[in-house]
Amino acid sequence: MKIFELNESSVRSYCRSFPVVFKQARGAELISRDGRHYIDFLAGAGTLNYGHNHPVLKQALLDYIEQDGLTHGLDMYSEAKEAFLETFNRLILEPRGMGEYLMQFTGPTGANAVEAALKLARKVTGRQSILSFTNGFHGCTLGALAATGNQHHRGGAGVPLGEVARMPYANYFGDKVNTIAMIDKLLDDPSSGIDKPAAVIVEVVQGEGGLNVASAEWMRKLDKLCRKHEMLLIVDDIQAGCGRTGSFFSFEEMGIRPDMITLSKSLSGYGLPFAMVLLRKELDQWKPGEHNGTFRGNNHAFVTATAAIEHFWRDDSFAQSVRTKGKRIAERMQKIVRRHGPDSLFVKGRGMMIGISCPDGELATSICRKAFEQGLVIETSGAHGEVVKCLCPLTIEDAQIEKALDILDHAFAAALSEHQANQAS
Ligand SMILES: *Cc1c(COP(=O)(O)O)cnc(C)c1O
Repeated sequence: MKIFELNESSVRSYCRSFPVVFKQARGAELISRDGRHYIDFLAGAGTLNYGHNHPVLKQALLDYIEQDGLTHGLDMYSEAKEAFLETFNRLILEPRGMGEYLMQFTGPTGANAVEAALKLARKVTGRQSILSFTNGFHGCTLGALAATGNQHHRGGAGVPLGEVARMPYANYFGDKVNTIAMIDKLLDDPSSGIDKPAAVIVEVVQGEGGLNVASAEWMRKLDKLCRKHEMLLIVDDIQAGCGRTGSFFSFEEMGIRPDMITLSKSLSGYGLPFAMVLLRKELDQWKPGEHNGTFRGNNHAFVTATAAIEHFWRDDSFAQSVRTKGKRIAERMQKIVRRHGPDSLFVKGRGMMIGISCPDGELATSICRKAFEQGLVIETSGAHGEVVKCLCPLTIEDAQIEKALDILDHAFAAALSEHQANQAS
């Protein structure tokens, strides 16, 4: 472990929670150099929805490399890109009545896609300000960071983060306060001090922000609010998309029509860097190369993404299995809550993006540490790191779910008894 401490920047973070050297990974399992097997409930923070090294995706990539398919080609036309455009359109967009959206390939990270969406919204509307929400997370480059709530990340900016007005997310003040009515009033009032925004950027389930869930009703009201005040609606589906909530997009069947959608994390299906903005045709006011980047469209990622969509999204059976597994995980989590803290713990989230909220971050961290000792990789999220968050591959086997939840159950018991002993002494 010395080499990492000696030679790698102290900005490294996840490795501090899981201080072993990993060597292999398959499906929902990580294997360390010393041969220990871990169940992966972090899955690249939602990047590995189809698990590690899925054999179908791996074979597609190996075949492509074997034939000397393009690895890098700037944004030139390649067969790999052609196949992705055709497949994504046929199996994802068209069946959902979304054939009107164009695909913009940005630099390969989520933050790149968010930057492009914010830039385009400002360009198209001629307005500067963006509305974003409490506890929202959109990435760590300056534009995306300005829209992000988290103080720890914002503190790293070194310059003022501007042109964003922060609004309360759904249920931020509890379920009796209608935050959309609040925002509407602020936007209607010419003396509220809130400039008319270019766009609203929102997560339907806040991934890093602690698994806060927006209801279909709240999203519909937000959509309407955007039309009323002529703001564009950007859904950041980087973490909640690609099947995580039980449908390809997190907002399906909510009856909303976002102007732009950002996708990254699990889009390549294989953990390869890849990001895209979906935008309505009439918004496509970019001049050629106006928003640029050397790594726009990663050909290896086109190959694995195409294979993933062909393999998992031909019909509804995969989405159905996600909903079934999500229900099972939620049931097991409810049991943990009933057993260990019916008054202090509660289950949050949607689909396979769910977790248990604890009274404080210290307890949640201690639970995750104990789970890791027993072979479960799991992390916290939320404003205070208080939510123990399950983000396992959607392809995880039922037996692995049961085993992982057994470990989590024991971790809650051990951490809580330690916590109580500390408080008593
Ligand atoms: C992870 C994430 C991002 C940023 O993606 P990076 O690849 O880390 O830049 C943006 N939005 C959401 C919702 C995310 O979860």
